[in-house]
Amino acid sequence: MPAPADLRVALACVPTGADVKLTVLLEAVSEGVLVTGEASAPVTGECARCLEPTASSVDVAFRELYEHDDARYEEAGDDSDRRFLRGDLLDLEPAFRDAVVLALPLAPLCRPDCAGLCAECGVRLADAGPGHDHDSAPDPRWARLRELDMGRERRNGASAVDGQEA
Ligand SMILES: [Zn+2]
Ligand SMILES: [Zn+2]
Repeated sequence: MPAPADLRVALACVPTGADVKLTVLLEAVSEGVLVTGEASAPVTGECARCLEPTASSVDVAFRELYEHDDARYEEAGDDSDRRFLRGDLLDLEPAFRDAVVLALPLAPLCRPDCAGLCAECGVRLADAGPGHDHDSAPDPRWARLRELDMGRERRNGASAVDGQEA
């Protein structure tokens, strides 16, 4: 069946119209119909740490009793957790929706060890590489190296001048 609209939590949703695999078993019981369903739906979302798009799926199982009594349906109204058969019709969508919304990941991750974003500059740490950091005070050893480099340049410059003179 196509996924109904608005199946979402903050960072994840089942895309509307996405292909949902649904297996349903209906059993007649004295109060109505007992519905046992299993569904598998694709989920897209945003990584809770780095906001990269994520793609996964949810598998849910649900079991609901649909009571047959239209009069009681009117009584119970829409707020009721109880489900009712409407004549011969059985609306599976609310049961499916409730099960899926509970199963959607509240904090989806692009991968289990996602390092998230750099707190300093916001770059995605997985892209920036493990050496990425913001040590504002330069390491004294690097400062020494820079001095050495500059010294070598000066010497090279001097020898070039020497070469021209020769
Ligand atoms: Zn991520
Ligand atoms: Zn950074």
